[in-house]
Amino acid sequence: MSAIVAGRSCDSCSLCCILPDIDALEKPANTVCRHCAPESRCLIYLDRPQLCADFHCAWMTDGAMTAEWEPSRAHMMVYSQGPQITVLVDPAYPEAHRQTPYREQLAQWASSAAPSGGFVIVFVGDTAIKIEPRSHGINATAHDSIRRRDRELSGAGTIAGSDPKEFA
Ligand code: SF4
Ligand code: SF4
Repeated sequence: MSAIVAGRSCDSCSLCCILPDIDALEKPANTVCRHCAPESRCLIYLDRPQLCADFHCAWMTDGAMTAEWEPSRAHMMVYSQGPQITVLVDPAYPEAHRQTPYREQLAQWASSAAPSGGFVIVFVGDTAIKIEPRSHGINATAHDSIRRRDRELSGAGTIAGSDPKEFA
């Protein structure tokens, strides 16, 4: 489990209890976990699955993530799954990843990750999009081979998008 960046907290955000698949809870993507109270409080906090206890998104754990990536502001949550930088977009804001500065940042992450085999996948509802390096997000193309499990809650930690070594 990665350390939380000083001064950061989830506050009222609960996107990681909504956007990813969580098999341990039989929770499909883009549905609110049945244990999530309206005020973003976990009703089984002391007994929540270990992966919930361990998970923190990249904004929480990567000091390189700038303020606009706070999930409740970006309407996206970001985490790493091996070589994949996973970006889950709140379906209520389906164009969030196409807005500046996000699309430029996503393309930069894709460019930085590519030399060591890393890549960036954006999920919007059930659509998976692979961000092409240096495309500035404009030419992002649907990527049919992405499997549903590729948005399973897992891992997290830093993404350090400017450091390809993170994806070795
Ligand atoms: S997405 Fe990040 S900021 Fe939001 S609740 Fe989850 S860990 Fe906290
Ligand atoms: S069990 Fe709790 S922490 Fe885990 S997804 Fe559900 S509400 Fe969130």
